[in-house]
Amino acid sequence: MISKLPNAQTSIFAVMTKMANECGAINLAQGFPDFDVAPELIDRIHYYMQKGMNQYAPMPGVLALREAIAKKIDHTFGVSIESDEVTVTAGATQALFATITAIVHAGDEVIFFDPAYDCYLPTIQLCGGVPININLDKDDFSIPWKKVEQKITAKTKLIIINTPHNPSGAVLTENDMNELARLTRDKEIYVISDEVYEHLIYDGQAHHSVLKNEELRKKSVAIYSFGKTFHATGWKMGYTVAPPFLTDEIRKVHQFLVFSVSTATQWALADYLNEPKHYEYLPSFFQQKRDYLLDLMAPSRFKPITCKGTYFQSFSYAAISDQPDRKMAEWITKTHGVASIPLSPFYTDHSDHQQLRLCFAKSEETLKQAAQKLCQI
Ligand code: PMP
Ligand code: GLN
Repeated sequence: MISKLPNAQTSIFAVMTKMANECGAINLAQGFPDFDVAPELIDRIHYYMQKGMNQYAPMPGVLALREAIAKKIDHTFGVSIESDEVTVTAGATQALFATITAIVHAGDEVIFFDPAYDCYLPTIQLCGGVPININLDKDDFSIPWKKVEQKITAKTKLIIINTPHNPSGAVLTENDMNELARLTRDKEIYVISDEVYEHLIYDGQAHHSVLKNEELRKKSVAIYSFGKTFHATGWKMGYTVAPPFLTDEIRKVHQFLVFSVSTATQWALADYLNEPKHYEYLPSFFQQKRDYLLDLMAPSRFKPITCKGTYFQSFSYAAISDQPDRKMAEWITKTHGVASIPLSPFYTDHSDHQQLRLCFAKSEETLKQAAQKLCQI
């Protein structure tokens, strides 16, 4: 059989989690919390299951949830959207798949930025799209807009951005959004803005959602994940927000890919979202964890890379070793008992800047134990 994805390998997240489990290492690799989902939210799902909400949900998502999402967007970004611009998906991954599939025809060029989240490239390839990857600045992971301008052609159909950015922790500014608007002005170029870490943003900064930019909003799909926001990555619940003409096309794919997602969970999330306190605490909650990890790691030989958002803190190990990053991550997992994620698999050109990513969505005890081990290297 001719493979459609001949170069696809097992994701680095799965590889490092498996290695951590086999070695009994502390898993700071794959991005998931080691603390519980709010019992109140779990009770609410249980409540709706007992109430009989166990059959197919409407294809676009339960209306009460789509309305609650619209209200939340108004509350957080001051942007008014219709519930009909929201489609509830099986996590951000399915949202990305449905959106890329809806937009990209064979031969269309898609610009995205490396290091990039792992599902963008294979999804573009499955659509017959032409991936045009641009490396972010090596030091501060900013977007080199001049290069973007040079790479835009008559075939460019889509640009994918991600803010706050996994794996670097960089965030886009209002200026970045203005540049993107300028470069795509009067062209048939759409934008996917992967904003799954919208609430994980630190040091008093605001999240610059694509939805806040009047011009970009008209051609963009913003993508979110309840897995990240409510510490429930295993539920695979997310959503897209897009203008009606894009939403119509996304739903055509969504309908045949999954049709709809967990009914009781949608009803429960609708109730839960209606109280802003359920997400407003997130920046300070995670900033404390980031700062706790940075303090613990200060005596180590690892050098932190500025993290302005997400729950990932990356470190350079250049002062310790000149091994390739995959080898280094494997060695640390096996000999020092802490699993991390090397950054080179996020680069199409496998750039290796000797950096490892640690997930700090963990209890203080887990972070303390991991840092103690890392400080001995
Ligand atoms: N985009 C980014 C940048 C991510 O880090 C992740 C992982 N949470 C996803 C998309 C996929 O999210 P989900 O688990 O909701 O599918
Ligand atoms: N988003 C998670 C991370 O970056 C991983 C999700 C997955 O394993 N596919 O670690």
